[in-house]
Amino acid sequence: MVLEDTLGLLPPVQGCLFCHSEGAISLETGQARLVRSTALPVIKCAHCGSVAELDVDPTDPDHWRIRYRKINHAPRYYYMSLVFGSGAWIEGAQALQFSTQGFVQRQRVRQASEGDFSWLAPVLLDPLPPFIVQGETALLVLRAVSFIRPAPQTWIFRAGQDEFLDSGKLYITDRKLHLVGQRREWSVAWADVLETEYDADAWRVRVGGDDRMRQFTGARTANEVDPQLITVTVDYLKSR
Ligand SMILES: [Zn+2]
Repeated sequence: MVLEDTLGLLPPVQGCLFCHSEGAISLETGQARLVRSTALPVIKCAHCGSVAELDVDPTDPDHWRIRYRKINHAPRYYYMSLVFGSGAWIEGAQALQFSTQGFVQRQRVRQASEGDFSWLAPVLLDPLPPFIVQGETALLVLRAVSFIRPAPQTWIFRAGQDEFLDSGKLYITDRKLHLVGQRREWSVAWADVLETEYDADAWRVRVGGDDRMRQFTGARTANEVDPQLITVTVDYLKSR
């Protein structure tokens, strides 16, 4: 069996692991290149524009690994760029798992933006914390959330330091945001939620309802809902 035949059967060649398009992958084998005869096969996706190298032993095609050299940073591929954007080699089994997780996550972001939270396991609070009223539904509970009052900021400089208010567990419910902090309990109505922001490392929710803007912040953790999904959920609840 020649190399192209072996490669053609590999999952990342049959469909794009990054964007899940089928039939958009083109394969370029190192053999076709004159200068670097030992170059690894490269796959390109015409749909998302990702470019990746494949490393596979033709005699053992079950074992392969992939390294993305170029990825698409559009918001809908947020999760994918987190898992595939490191520039490191990823073993086949792991890459397939990342791809599946990313597909699921993209569906969830779409659902959350439409107010469909059926993907969330119900948060069962027993006993019900005193700040949650009868009929109020907790959608997300996030740990290690900090609450600060950011230093006033102009275009040129930040005046002073952020003021730390508290840190603790944040309950995102259909009615309010409740932070059970180490110092006290803070509740913010949805009407006082101003804006959200996320990046690869963290999510931020800015709120008013005070003389100065305050901000909830949490770092991305492997076990919790990712920052994009958190902000999409908050944005939906705020917009209702
Ligand atoms: Zn793609």
